[in-house]
Amino acid sequence: MASNDEIFKKIIAHAKEYGFIFQSSEIYDGLSAVYDYGQNGVELKNNIKDYWWRAMVRYHENIVGIDSAIFMHPTIWKASGHVDAFNDPMIDNKDSKKRYRADVLVEDHLAKLEEKINKEVEKAAKRFGNAFDEAQFRATNQRVLDNQAKVDEIKHRLYKGLENNDLADIKKLIEDCEIVCPISGSRNWTEVRQFNLMFSTQMGSISEDANTIYLRPETAQGIFVNFLNVMKTGRMKIPFGIAQIGKAFRNEIVARQFIFRMREFEQMEMQFFVRPGTELEWYEFWKQERLKWHLAMGLGEENYRFHNHEKLAHYANAAADIEFRFPFGFKELEGIHSRTDFDLAAHQKYSGKKITYFDPELNESYVPYVVETSIGLDRTFLALLGNAYTEEKLDDGSERVVMKLPPALAPVKAAVLPLVAKDGLPEKARQIMDTLKYDYNCQYEEKDSIGKRYRRQDAIGTPYCITVDHQTLEDNTVTIRERDSMKQDRIAISEISGIIAERMKMGEVRGKR
Ligand code: ATP
Repeated sequence: MASNDEIFKKIIAHAKEYGFIFQSSEIYDGLSAVYDYGQNGVELKNNIKDYWWRAMVRYHENIVGIDSAIFMHPTIWKASGHVDAFNDPMIDNKDSKKRYRADVLVEDHLAKLEEKINKEVEKAAKRFGNAFDEAQFRATNQRVLDNQAKVDEIKHRLYKGLENNDLADIKKLIEDCEIVCPISGSRNWTEVRQFNLMFSTQMGSISEDANTIYLRPETAQGIFVNFLNVMKTGRMKIPFGIAQIGKAFRNEIVARQFIFRMREFEQMEMQFFVRPGTELEWYEFWKQERLKWHLAMGLGEENYRFHNHEKLAHYANAAADIEFRFPFGFKELEGIHSRTDFDLAAHQKYSGKKITYFDPELNESYVPYVVETSIGLDRTFLALLGNAYTEEKLDDGSERVVMKLPPALAPVKAAVLPLVAKDGLPEKARQIMDTLKYDYNCQYEEKDSIGKRYRRQDAIGTPYCITVDHQTLEDNTVTIRERDSMKQDRIAISEISGIIAERMKMGEVRGKR
């Protein structure tokens, strides 16, 4: 069986070969951690956005959307804390000249120790068979206990160092753990320094008047600074939410794992404004609601898990990630954060404008509390891509690669294929195309054998192929081939649209309150 690493490489190659994702500026040797979406990628991406927008904005009557500018007043990033604290600790290896995130080096080291413990447990489980008591083994085996003690101590030091900004101790921790550079193999490290992740640029053409502004590192602040505008013009009553989809930029120190960590990416965020004191109830509500949204895509319940944060950001009173099992392990896909009144109160202070809501039921004004849901569009794309990629051996001995994407999200919904490019079949196929293409993204193809055309559609995840043959001209029927089962049925042309429509329904995303 191929390793996860090999499968991941195949997925990346497939994404390029079939027009999903290209390296940015490829003919100039690329730009690190920046990617372009190709002709099929953009369709899939738009469908994900649409699915999120419908589930959040259309489905909830008390959520509205906005589209704020990427450039914002620089004081916004002072108020939000990004200018002072949106940092990652970095360290360079003097021999390889490679730069790393210091905390990630330590976390990778921790993962190795945890792997050792798990191997020990697996070995024992095999040895003892049914009689194996894992909890007891973990509590008594000396090697496991020693490694666990090391893990606990390192974690404690790392978190303390990060919290107190004690960069010298994080450097010392790297030395004490004897962590080597994966490239040079040496322990010749620089000091640890803080690195701000925001990209900055100048606004205005005259340098004296130039003002440093930032490319937004999250879309959320565009929502907070429009809170009053939307509340007043939309006559919104608490609880209500504001949603936004848009680009965000972070100068990630270590950008890797394809579109998992990019320097330019897209977020789909929703800030839900609530009465203070009710935020934890809403936080639980949104955790469940968002999980339902993920599960409705059908990628398998076992591939998701919650990771509740123990160490909270200073402005949060509860936070969790929805993690997904990517080919490189469980990793964050979405964050759900109870952010208290931190952001609105900060903007009130820095702008000097009153940002409050008058609650008619309580007959008082307050700064609302906020529960945020923040999901990476590109990471959702990657989750779908990785999950859909399937290599199959067929009964006749041949092989196919099929992208088993949820039909509602697939880039192309149906391909219309004349069996041969003559005898009036292309004209008939074009007529069918014309009846479908306004409602569904369809493709017309007449080149190559029908088998080859089916394979090409499988490779981009098209749920249906509609084949027009000589019989079509006589009785207005076609064959419709389903992607996953490859089953072919003869149906009337008039039935096609209804069959596609039926498959485009998404699973259950309800749960309104
Ligand atoms: P990580 O810990 O992986 O860096 P984060 O906790 O900084 O992520 P948030 O600030 O909570 O991420 O951002 C919300 C969501 O935005 C994340 O759950 C993720 O899906 C997405 N995201 C964040 N950074 C990136 C990035 N560099 N590339 C792609 N998506 C990203």
